[in-house]
Amino acid sequence: MTRVAGTDELEVALAAVREAARLCQRVQRTLGYGVLTKGDRSPVTVADYGSQALICRALRAALPHDPIVAEEDAEHLRSSNGHAVAGEVARHVQAVRPGATEDEVLSWIDEGSGTLSDERFWILDPIDGTKGFLGQRQYAIALALLDRGQVRLGVLGCPNLAGGALFAAARGKGATFQRLSEPATGVRMRVSRMRDLAGARRCESVESGHSAHGIGHRLAACLGIRSEPVRMDSQAKYAVVAGGQAELYLRLPISRSYREKIWDHAAGALLLTEAGGQVTDVCGQPLDFSCGTTLSRNRGIVATNGIMHAKVIEALTEMCDDA
Ligand code: AMP
Ligand code: MG
Repeated sequence: MTRVAGTDELEVALAAVREAARLCQRVQRTLGYGVLTKGDRSPVTVADYGSQALICRALRAALPHDPIVAEEDAEHLRSSNGHAVAGEVARHVQAVRPGATEDEVLSWIDEGSGTLSDERFWILDPIDGTKGFLGQRQYAIALALLDRGQVRLGVLGCPNLAGGALFAAARGKGATFQRLSEPATGVRMRVSRMRDLAGARRCESVESGHSAHGIGHRLAACLGIRSEPVRMDSQAKYAVVAGGQAELYLRLPISRSYREKIWDHAAGALLLTEAGGQVTDVCGQPLDFSCGTTLSRNRGIVATNGIMHAKVIEALTEMCDDA
């Protein structure tokens, strides 16, 4: 038995991400606009740790035997240098979970030090799009359940998207959207049905170090896409395509050696495919989540409303052949 009787995994994941999103919103509010700068990582650190603590607590309570692989651990917080940050993390967690002690909070964070398994494990990016968080732009809390190399569940919390949004997907069961502020049954998500590439709206990373903006520009010109890209941090890009507000999300490799991390794509890619879209790498290969922490058999990402997918891959292949 890997679960406590009566728990619905997706409900557990949704509730966990909702709590974490509230904490992240609170950290941003407390700091106020204009306070965060790229050089100042402390707010994101507090929110990262706090988000991880809340999500690991919730998963652990409901699914005691599932490994959780998350980005942070509490080692630094337990050191003498980390004491002040630990206190701040605990204060933010207590605002959501009154009565939690600092020791408990640290032990919840450490629950995220699980090892990858061939069977099932959770993968958590407590704050995806760090720079977006610091810049008061988009960021996401990304949680996914991997099972024998496939993404089975994905939840994205996007506190700065559409007034605060929570997205959920279960393999074979569709994708839903709900507001963070009003827990409710989700509204079914569907990609746009646009066929005409000239009207396609595309999104890409804000960071030119994460996706080759120049190649994206050339590709868009080849495809006859007229509009400028919308630049956005985090897996919010997948949510925007899944919700039909854009048709394309291109992540074009800037180096030969970089391999995409599974926590940057697992939840978002499932969300989009369950909303009727398609996600592959730049060669048109399906994403392979069975190789550990990276998508080592894939390069880059092409995510579309499905209808336009083959044309984008074809144009990319031609561009690469010409290069
Ligand atoms: P985004 O907000 O879409 O730009 O993606 C943020 C993620 O990009 C981070 O979580 C990193 O894991 C990832 N990242 C870091 N370096 C690279 C790189 N060279 N190419 C692609 N992604 C990267
Ligand atoms: Mg990330």
